[in-house]
Amino acid sequence: MIYIANVFFYFLIFMAGAGIFSFLNVVVYRLPKKISFVSGRSHCPSCDATLRWYDMVPVFNWFYLRGKCRDCGARISFRYPAVETLGGVLALLCVHRFGLEAEAIAAFAFLCVLTVVALIDADTMEIPNGLVIWLLVIAIVAWACGVEPAWKDRLIGLVCVSVPMLLLTLAIPGAFGGGDIKLMGAAGLFLGWKLCLTAMFLAILTGGIYGIYLLATRKKGKKEHFAFGPFLCVGMAAALFWGEQLLDWYLSLYHF
Ligand SMILES: [Zn+2]
Repeated sequence: MIYIANVFFYFLIFMAGAGIFSFLNVVVYRLPKKISFVSGRSHCPSCDATLRWYDMVPVFNWFYLRGKCRDCGARISFRYPAVETLGGVLALLCVHRFGLEAEAIAAFAFLCVLTVVALIDADTMEIPNGLVIWLLVIAIVAWACGVEPAWKDRLIGLVCVSVPMLLLTLAIPGAFGGGDIKLMGAAGLFLGWKLCLTAMFLAILTGGIYGIYLLATRKKGKKEHFAFGPFLCVGMAAALFWGEQLLDWYLSLYHF
C-alpha cells in the first residue's frame, strides 16, 4: 500500500510541475510579443480555436492528439510537451534534493524563471528585464524565509560573476550581452557565490563546446554570436542540484 501511495505522490508532483510549465510555455510565447499572459485562454496559433479544458492536460494530451490541433490539424511543436516534461522532472528533482521544504519551492520558482529566460533568449537573443527582477524577488523572499545560503554568500554571489563579466565586456565590447550580466547578478543573489561560480564554469564549458561545434560545422562565422543565456541557465540548474558534490569532488583533487 505504502508503495502505491508513493508512486501516486510522485505522479502528483510530476503533474503539478508539468502543469506549471505548461503555463510557462504560454509566457514564453506571449511575453516577447507583449500579449498579456494572464488574460485570454490559450488558442491554436493557426486556426484561432480556443483550447478546451480537457486539451490542457500537460504532456499526455500532446501524445493523445499526436501533436496536431484538434480543430485544424496544424502541427503543434514538440517543444510544448518537452517543456512540460522538463517541468515535471524538475519538480521531482526539487523534492528529491530538498525534501518538502521551503528550499524546494524556492528552487522550483527559480528554475521556472530560468526556463523562461533560456527559451526566450534562444528565440529572440534577448533577456527581458522583467525576468531578471523576478529572479531578484525570488532571491530576496528565499533569503527572508531563511533559505540557505547565508546573506554574506548571497551578496558575494551578486557580484562575483556579474562584475567580472561587466569588466570583460567593457574591455572587449560584445564579450557578454547586458542581459547575461544582469542575469548572473540576480541569480548569484539566489545561488550564493559558490554555486554561482560553479554555474559559470559549467556554462563556459558547455557553451564553449557548442561554439566549437558551430565553427566546425560552419553553421556560424567567427564574428557571429549565439545566445549564451541558455547555457548559463543550464549551468545554474545543474549547480543547484549537483554543485555541492561537484565542488567537493573538485576540491578533493587538491588533497593529496
Ligand atoms: Zn488549429
